[in-house]
Amino acid sequence: LSSDGKEKSLLIQLTPYGVGQFLIVTRDVTQMEKLETTRKDFVANVSHEMRTPLTVLAGFLETLRDMPPESLTSEQRERYQDMMLEQAQRMQALVADLLTLSTLESSPSAQGSPVRLDTVINTALQQAKVLSNGQHVFVTNITEGLCVSGVETELASAVSNLLTNAVRYTPKDGTITVSWYLTESGAACYSVQDTGIGIAAQDIPRLTERFYRVDRGRSRSTGGTGLGLAITRHVAMRHDAELHIQSRYGAGSLFSLEFPKARVTQAEAQSA
Ligand code: ADP
Repeated sequence: LSSDGKEKSLLIQLTPYGVGQFLIVTRDVTQMEKLETTRKDFVANVSHEMRTPLTVLAGFLETLRDMPPESLTSEQRERYQDMMLEQAQRMQALVADLLTLSTLESSPSAQGSPVRLDTVINTALQQAKVLSNGQHVFVTNITEGLCVSGVETELASAVSNLLTNAVRYTPKDGTITVSWYLTESGAACYSVQDTGIGIAAQDIPRLTERFYRVDRGRSRSTGGTGLGLAITRHVAMRHDAELHIQSRYGAGSLFSLEFPKARVTQAEAQSA
């Protein structure tokens, strides 16, 4: 135990030092051990996430191989093919998110150039509406021409992650409010508020961990990879932004990204 009562791992080495003498060297390896545990957990999680769709896919392929072709109606065949495609797409999404995450982790800061986040948000909104399929009410409050300097593809993925989550975790007829505005201090804030299922207080601090899900079954069935908020947190860090999460279980959530003043600009005067 260290002086502040925390458990520490020490590596103790005994090294010969002169005649009949030894030097005792102790090294604090707590951090190294933590990293190793994180790495092992990550590999276990990825393997698990890949194994499920692969098992389903292999099962369907075996069934199709062993069945005489005439015993399947064309509707059954189509249904099998759709289910196989769904599993393949799940793996594609997972691999795409893993690659994004590893690219983000390998460099600390995103400089880039001014990005019209209003345009990025509007594009993500169109996609979210397709996903919502008319089941939600969207309210928007987006400042036109408000830019943030950074990397557009990264910002787009963070913007869209928060929006798709709002759609996924908000039941039918819920309201999703999307805002992009300048705060009084000159920072710029992108926020997505929903009237969805909400998150219990004890889960909030863990949401941005890779593969952390409050409800595994629900997340998977809605197509989530469990990496969206981890990616969003990295994008935020790389843009000196803060990711805030407020939520009440059963009532809804508010996710926001706040970009510092130094990153904020206005687009050149728009042509009429
Ligand atoms: P997933 O792909 O599972 O959605 P994320 O990293 O995007 O992964 O989110 C992690 C978890 O956070 C989700 O599985 C879900 O439990 C919770 N979550 C994220 N956004 C919301 C939201 N708007 N409302 C309720 N729960 C949410």
